[in-house]
Amino acid sequence: MLTYQDSLDQLAGVGPKRLEALHDLNLFTIEDLLTYYPFRYEDLGSRLPSQTLDGEKVTFKGTVSTAPVVRRFGKRSQTQFGLMVDRENVRVTFFNQPWMAKNIEPGQEVAIYGTYNAARAALTAIKLVSATTDELDPIYPASQHITAKTIRQLIEQAWGQVRGQLPDLVPEHLRQKYRLLERNQQVEQMHFPPDPASAKAARRSAAFEEFFVFQMRLQLLKLSDQGFAGEAIHYDQEALQDFTKHLPFELTEAQERVVGEILKDQGRPIHMNRLLQGDVGSGKTVVAALAMYAAITGGTQAALMAPTEILAQQHARSLAKLFDQVGLPIRVELLTSGLKAAQRRQILADLEDGDIDLVVGTHALLQPDVHFHHLGLAVIDEQHRFGVKQRAALREGGVNPDILAMTATPIPRTLSITAYGEMDVSIIDQLPAGRLPIKTKLLSHRSWDQVLDFIRTQLAKKAQVYVVTPLIAESDALDVQNAEALQEELAADLPDYQVGLMHGRLDNDEKQALMTAFEQNQIQVLVATTVVEVGVDVPNATVMVVVDADRFGLAQLHQLRGRVGRGKQQSYTLLIADPKTEYGRSRLDAMVESNDGFVLAQRDLELRGAGDILGTKQSGVPDFAVGDPVKDLTMMTVAQQEAIDLVSDPKWDQNPDNQALVNYLSETMAGYRHFD
Ligand code: ADP
Ligand code: MG
Repeated sequence: MLTYQDSLDQLAGVGPKRLEALHDLNLFTIEDLLTYYPFRYEDLGSRLPSQTLDGEKVTFKGTVSTAPVVRRFGKRSQTQFGLMVDRENVRVTFFNQPWMAKNIEPGQEVAIYGTYNAARAALTAIKLVSATTDELDPIYPASQHITAKTIRQLIEQAWGQVRGQLPDLVPEHLRQKYRLLERNQQVEQMHFPPDPASAKAARRSAAFEEFFVFQMRLQLLKLSDQGFAGEAIHYDQEALQDFTKHLPFELTEAQERVVGEILKDQGRPIHMNRLLQGDVGSGKTVVAALAMYAAITGGTQAALMAPTEILAQQHARSLAKLFDQVGLPIRVELLTSGLKAAQRRQILADLEDGDIDLVVGTHALLQPDVHFHHLGLAVIDEQHRFGVKQRAALREGGVNPDILAMTATPIPRTLSITAYGEMDVSIIDQLPAGRLPIKTKLLSHRSWDQVLDFIRTQLAKKAQVYVVTPLIAESDALDVQNAEALQEELAADLPDYQVGLMHGRLDNDEKQALMTAFEQNQIQVLVATTVVEVGVDVPNATVMVVVDADRFGLAQLHQLRGRVGRGKQQSYTLLIADPKTEYGRSRLDAMVESNDGFVLAQRDLELRGAGDILGTKQSGVPDFAVGDPVKDLTMMTVAQQEAIDLVSDPKWDQNPDNQALVNYLSETMAGYRHFD
């Protein structure tokens, strides 16, 4: 007798090869197989001949009107009989299945699936379908090494053996409250639905189960974070106020509010795991600086991790400058992979001794030889560039600092519950005062002269300009050539100005030198292939020209636009494109219509469809087999709330009603931190 926890090689017909194919699909136990659900059903629902087109595949249900006649032609055969469907007689033919005759008797009710020939009122039969069940044929996601049909047969076999054994993961009170099926019924109806309504009901229950288990994992992760040596940072309130007073600007209300939320977490003996969301240019960096300064005044160290070297360098410089302005002796160091060995050794030693207060770096900060004296806060900039894995890596390996992740809304609010479900969220929903909304225009390549005139006028007003071109060619070299050509052309057209070129083939020092020259206005026009590194802050740059703008995604375009509009002057984004597709056009129209990252993220989702966004690693959203976190957002929200409620009872895991869930979670949780 098999149990649902048995390995799949216990099934008849599963040898080493097939087992491997099943493992490739992530199926190990009978339970895994039984929760490997069909992604759709072939509709075998019956129809009338009058509703059926010539050549269409259809199921006719009716009464056998004439006894089957078998004709043989050598090895081949035809089995024919009449079928009365409603009031029409259809001639049914099975080819090469003479044994069918034994299954068919006049007067019998049958359903037959086949291809209809309207002119001859004939059905070329594909299969005999039982008249009462099996109207929906489940179709399973298959692989190169195992067919959907084999999977189906194995599921039938397995279900025959362990039917009724599966424990319920969703506690009974929730099943009652939301009218969900018991798990056994759910599984049976997913695989063998008697009718479309049953399949739908099963899918609803399975989706809830999937979301609920997911949200339970997030809640448990959150609880374990909080229980795990969270430290109260005793920061110096007065020093912080002093710092704020010496800033060259006043914090916006939104900045004040999120600073308050962050400081409150830092001061409590919990482990902070907070996401700071704010549109490009909303001023996240200074918020992070305050939080890091708080950690330092509390006697700990702070770290800031950025996705690129350029960005890390810029952060290190501007933080050092900021602390200097405020008159604070804070030691800021940069740790990137570009360091010389001796320098690196020195920095590592000083970090370990606690001589460095604040370290800024890239992934290099995650190297195993990096040891802190006492890390109190880790800030992750442009969080969407890092996966859940890296977020987790910062927490593992002994150090367990507070985490502040920052992002400029890479995904819409509707998805954040899923992507960042284990984090608390603070939102900066306001731009610094005096910012003029960026003006965005869409122009054809034919208007290039106009673009040049515009650039000239702006340069004359002492503004600086970015010109970004996409990567088009298959080869790096060609892209660089294209960009070089553009740079030369611009240099010729703008003889009074310096035109620089930034591309992916430059090494970090060269990139850095260019960025510095641009920052110091030694270069007025910067042509770039690789996106002017996300997050770069040059307030005097007020014009962003994007060539072939239709080759960029909406999120990228918004990020690019965010490079300008950082100072008090009016800024402009010129999108140069002649989009060839409807989708390309809609994206650019959306850019012209809205400056709001949240709105654009939502629009992006609508234009691309959730599948596309969910499919990318960047989204941070894990894959779901049954539920759709966008379409079923309400269900996801409910599942989250119920998971929060459930674990709010400290004894939840001792309640017998939750035992199956507890077991399931503890078996599957181990690999969870790396679910992406
Ligand atoms: P992002 O949120 O995109 O990372 P930054 O932190 O780089 O934005 O800030 C963008 C610019 O706005 C910077 O030049 C910064 O100095 C400035 N800034 C931040 N906060 C304020 C404020 N409250 N008032 C005026 N300028 C501000
Ligand atoms: Mg930033």
